[in-house]
Amino acid sequence: MQPDPRNTPLAYLKGVGPGRARLLESELGLKTFRDLLYFFPNRYIDKSRYYKIRELERSSAEVQLIGKIVHLKTVEQKRGKRLVATFRDDTGEMELVWFRSQKWFRERLKLGEPYVIFGRVNWYNGAFSMPHPDLELLSAHQQQKRIRMQPVYPSTEKLTRQGISNRLLTQWVAAVLAQVREVLPETLPDRILEALQLLPKPRSLVQIHFPDSNALLARAQARLKFEELFYIQLALLSKKHERKKRIRGYLFEQVGERFTAFYKDHLPFDLTGAQKRVIREIRADLGSNAQMNRLLQGDVGSGKTIVAVLTILLALDNGYQACLVAPTEILAQQHFNAVSELLEPLGLPVGLLTGSVKEKDRKPLLAGLSDGSLPILIGTHAVLEPRVKFNNLGLAIIDEQHRFGVAQRAKLWKKNKRPPHILVMTATPIPRTLAMSLYGDLDISLIDELPPGRKPVRTVLRGDRDRLRVFGFLKDEIRKGRQAYIVYPLIQESEAMDYKDLMDGFESISREFPQPDFQVSIVHGQMKPEAKEYEMQRFAEGKTQIMVATTVIEVGVNVPNASVMVIESAERFGLSQLHQLRGRVGRGADQSYCILMCGEKLSEEARTRLQTMARTNDGFEIAETDLKLRGPGNLLGTQQSGVLSLRIADLVRDRELLQSAREFARQLLLADPGLEQAENRVVRTRLQQMEVFQNRWDYIS
Ligand code: ADP
Ligand code: MG
Repeated sequence: MQPDPRNTPLAYLKGVGPGRARLLESELGLKTFRDLLYFFPNRYIDKSRYYKIRELERSSAEVQLIGKIVHLKTVEQKRGKRLVATFRDDTGEMELVWFRSQKWFRERLKLGEPYVIFGRVNWYNGAFSMPHPDLELLSAHQQQKRIRMQPVYPSTEKLTRQGISNRLLTQWVAAVLAQVREVLPETLPDRILEALQLLPKPRSLVQIHFPDSNALLARAQARLKFEELFYIQLALLSKKHERKKRIRGYLFEQVGERFTAFYKDHLPFDLTGAQKRVIREIRADLGSNAQMNRLLQGDVGSGKTIVAVLTILLALDNGYQACLVAPTEILAQQHFNAVSELLEPLGLPVGLLTGSVKEKDRKPLLAGLSDGSLPILIGTHAVLEPRVKFNNLGLAIIDEQHRFGVAQRAKLWKKNKRPPHILVMTATPIPRTLAMSLYGDLDISLIDELPPGRKPVRTVLRGDRDRLRVFGFLKDEIRKGRQAYIVYPLIQESEAMDYKDLMDGFESISREFPQPDFQVSIVHGQMKPEAKEYEMQRFAEGKTQIMVATTVIEVGVNVPNASVMVIESAERFGLSQLHQLRGRVGRGADQSYCILMCGEKLSEEARTRLQTMARTNDGFEIAETDLKLRGPGNLLGTQQSGVLSLRIADLVRDRELLQSAREFARQLLLADPGLEQAENRVVRTRLQQMEVFQNRWDYIS
């Protein structure tokens, strides 16, 4: 068999050699012919058309125009001289500007002769200009053979310095294409190519490097993006199928006594439609033979706790233990309180295990877990320690997963012979597009409905000069019996300064809201857990009216009587954080408010963030904006995932392609789960080459 020419090291490409091959590898990670094939241009110089001055846009695109220089002058300014030409076509005028080699140009430019100019336009003082254009006389230009669209490849300073220009890279790509074009295999099944009218693979690879037209470039890109997304979805989905087939879960066959009793007699409120639907989804999982791996998404306050409790009861009714793990001590404590209260009428013992549980209290707890007499455990990471042994753990619920490392999740699996059912709850709304690619192998349940009677939180932006008015408003609310949070940013690098801001703020607020009329609490990350807990408790019980805090309170705190959230230096917070913070209010029946205090000078991005907050309460809309502003790599919890290092597709811009890729992948697996049909052989081969995702799967399988 012939060796695949695509595996040839780049050193063997004519004009490259070992030295440059080393550079290409160290600078751009390119090793073989194949790497160069998939090294896509990041833009194209479009010399396929001529623009008119009137058509120019304030974008960074490089454009080509035909016109005449009608005037030439040297302009002197403090910062130096420049040569300015007035360039005219039949639609208008613009300036061409030279800062260097002025004498050379001044002597050679011909007035009144038609030129073709090419370059990037600037918009300055109400007019377009082009600094240092490429230019040639139209007569000379017409004699040349034209390349239509030229690829521009990503590069580095070092490569440029070493003489590896874009022109060289272009030549090398062309040479590789010429050598391997004949052997490039098709990597998508015919049926999909036909259904979507996709370009064949070899043609796509040629067109993405050397497009014959904009339209063909677009088709080549669409084809390659689709392929990329399709195989990711296929990998995730087939993994899920496999998991369902292979890993048998504990069978929770019966809806037993406790679930029924609780559901009939002790629910503190009617469940929302969304809550009921989610519980049905969970029950279907638990009653099947497979192990549940479900992500429960629901905005803050949407009522995930009750879903957790009902799921716990299902486990207990089938003779298993359940645990609920939270990312912080405060949150674990709150869950413990909420769950104990809800289960009180059933007389079920609930244990709490956190880092601050004393050794002497820990012993009976651990004993109860291992002999099975303690059916429910709530806690922090402490639950994951090896010495915590369950008798028969059937269900693990993880709250606020983005605080949870992959490795920690893996530890839960080791607690049993068989993996327990897993329910991950998150209030971080993950946009659908992202959820599909990140968690395509998990099942997703969504609580997309808030309990009835909630009034949307009113959000306003305020500046320093509004401070007195804001304080006045707080006093009014407190006199009405409400409570308020005032939150300060705490960003790690500037921690000392931030603590100073926090303490200064606390002092001035204590002055503004004096005792005995007002009580002010403070909570921050440097306090001892007991002290924190004590202050949170006082606030929760209504003994203090103002809680000054850092983002410690971000996650999960539930004080329905609190109706005002003031966020200081709001421009320093990310969107999802702002949304989480705002979720602390609006939990009771009263109108609630979120006041975003911000500086005068805001970056464009900060302004968009704050305005988004003022415009909407919808967590998913906010998450979508966040995704657009920051890109998926920065969203919480997605950093470790290799899935996002996409070569060409973009999860935000290409969401429609993603949806269609997922649908095609789903149908293909449905029709041919083992990928055994002849027409799907290409798919199987290609799928087997995908190892990239192994890391991310480790914790799930
Ligand atoms: P989260 O999803 O943020 O964890 P919680 O479970 O803490 O939300 O619920 C927020 C509040 O809403 C709690 O006070 C809870 O008792 C209440 N709640 C939850 N579901 C309902 C419902 N269906 N009807 C009325 N109140 C509800
Ligand atoms: Mg919660």
